[in-house]
Amino acid sequence: MAIKYNKCPRCGSLNVIKIIYGMQTHDAFLMTEEGKIKLGSCCITDSEPEYYCKDCENEWGRQISIDKAYNEIIRIKTSVGGYFGGYFEVDIDYENRKLKWSHLCAGAEDYYEKTIRQNTLYKFIDELKMLNLLDWKSKYIEPDVCDGTQWSLEIIKSGRNIKKYGDNKFPDEWDDFCRLIRNVSGNVFS
Ligand SMILES: [Zn+2]
Repeated sequence: MAIKYNKCPRCGSLNVIKIIYGMQTHDAFLMTEEGKIKLGSCCITDSEPEYYCKDCENEWGRQISIDKAYNEIIRIKTSVGGYFGGYFEVDIDYENRKLKWSHLCAGAEDYYEKTIRQNTLYKFIDELKMLNLLDWKSKYIEPDVCDGTQWSLEIIKSGRNIKKYGDNKFPDEWDDFCRLIRNVSGNVFS
């Protein structure tokens, strides 16, 4: 699931139009009259809102949609590994700031749990935004390899889970994601 910019972050409405800047043409005027677009006022800066909600008159830009989507996450579970080296799993529960790390190999489990600091968690969430976690595809499969590395990611939001996985194929940000998980867990994850 990618981020839905055209959903109102305040009321959840999809009755949303784009705000267009610097377009004073006749067509733009007609589209405005029909309520298809909203014309923004003159100055264009990075913080100008891009979307307008016709239900509650809220205006917002993409960064607000991104922040809202990442703030809805309450827990992240991820695993990586293969048949021979076993699987590493990390489960980060935002609400009580508990991190569980485990390694499962040939029936034996190595396991620990720790509490992470609020600041560490905020930094972690910021890093996930940089890694475009929510924009990853739901599966990455390399069909011609039968063993090798499998990974999974579960993003838990209130009321909804998003699952992504891969088999010998990875998102571009995968290595940086593993590095981040190693940093926050203080243990092996690769
Ligand atoms: Zn709204």
